Parts: sequence; structure tokens; C-alpha cells
Amino acid sequence: MSIRIKQDKCIGCKSCVEVCPGNLIKLASDKRAFIKHERDCWGCTSCVKACPAQAISFFLGADIGGRGAELTVSTKGSVRTWTVRKSDGSLQEIVVDGSQSNKY
Ligand code: SF4
Ligand code: SF4
Repeated sequence: MSIRIKQDKCIGCKSCVEVCPGNLIKLASDKRAFIKHERDCWGCTSCVKACPAQAISFFLGADIGGRGAELTVSTKGSVRTWTVRKSDGSLQEIVVDGSQSNKY
């Protein structure tokens, strides 16, 4: 279980560094983020949600998205859109409106 940081998309905002509960992400000298302790990542997805540049994706297991699938997220106001990109290139979106979280 781990994440991937696309360095060409990283804007060096440091949000992922601050939010990772395991202190696993660092900024390189060029101010781009990288995961230093990849094997210690337990997949909480906090960094994926915090990244404003969608530079971080999360690898899904075979039981969720299929082998090779990866998850990214974008946030607009209270609405969070989770996108699963499967290994065949197809996309699946899951939209969650946080303002409705306590509705039921
Ligand atoms: S998924 Fe969670 S534990 Fe893993 S690097 Fe991101 S914030 Fe840290
Ligand atoms: S949150 Fe995203 S843009 Fe900001 S430093 Fe981390 S990877 Fe780069």
C-alpha cells in the first residue's frame, strides 16, 4: 500500500508533509515532495486529499480497483471527487458531498 507523487505536478506547498501522520513525506532541495519511507505508508489517504495540485495518487489493491488501479481526489468546496483510474484506462468517479455527511 503506498502513494505515488508526480513531481512534475508538485507545487511545493508542503501540505502533504504537514498532514502525514507518519511524517513519511519530505521536500527535496528543489521543493518537490517525495515519500521517504514508502513501506511505512498505511494508506490513510490524508496526503491525497490535502494536495491542491492532484500530484499524489494512491495505489489500490486488486480487491478494490483491480491491480494497477490508482486513486486521485479533487476538492471543490464541500464536494470531494474520488477518481479511480483502472489499468485498462477506464475511469470511475465517486462524488462525496461533505455538507451532507450528518444528514442521515
Ligand atoms: S497515505 Fe497517509 S500515511 Fe501514507 S504517505 Fe499519505 S498521509 Fe502518509
Ligand atoms: S501537497 Fe501536493 S503540491 Fe503540495 S507539496 Fe505535497 S505533492 Fe506537492
